Amino acid sequence: MDSLEYLKTGAVTMMNLEQLGLIPSTKRINGKRPVVVFECHQEIPCDSCLESCKVGCIEMKNINDIPKVNFESCTGCAACLKKCPGLAAFLVQVIGKKGYVTMQYEFLPLPMKDEKVKTLDRLGREITDGIITNLITPERNDGTAIVTVEVPKEFVMEARAIKPLKEMK
Ligand code: SF4
Ligand code: SF4
Repeated sequence: MDSLEYLKTGAVTMMNLEQLGLIPSTKRINGKRPVVVFECHQEIPCDSCLESCKVGCIEMKNINDIPKVNFESCTGCAACLKKCPGLAAFLVQVIGKKGYVTMQYEFLPLPMKDEKVKTLDRLGREITDGIITNLITPERNDGTAIVTVEVPKEFVMEARAIKPLKEMK
């Protein structure tokens, strides 16, 4: 049963996320601003995203609830992503043929802006090349770097990690 597949693989699937209402519409992903995707599918005692969202577009019934987002109200400000202790928050946006995924990055060395990287899916498999379009260094974000990677638009809901090419030699 796919809904429990992540218990075996350790990785959530798009079907899991869709069933939980955590995937924005294609129209919203193609919108003028990025939109948040919480790949936070287990009931854990955490509400850092709720506390950090000044827009008020996250709903949780209690601290163990899965965060639900009003995607139309989300401004893509990344405040929640910066505070997520579970590395479970992403920003996504499609502009033309390109997709942009913003995520926390906790490895060293840090990638540089304009650096080419490999992108990985939820199971850690290489899926496509990417290029770093933005980097917020750990010094500017309480110790955790934030990177934005550009990928072909068809990978915007699959690319969930990066791997610098330098490490692969
Ligand atoms: S990206 Fe900004 S507006 Fe959207 S849910 Fe996160 S904190 Fe709220
Ligand atoms: S801050 Fe991250 S781990 Fe915590 S509830 Fe929100 S999305 Fe889940």
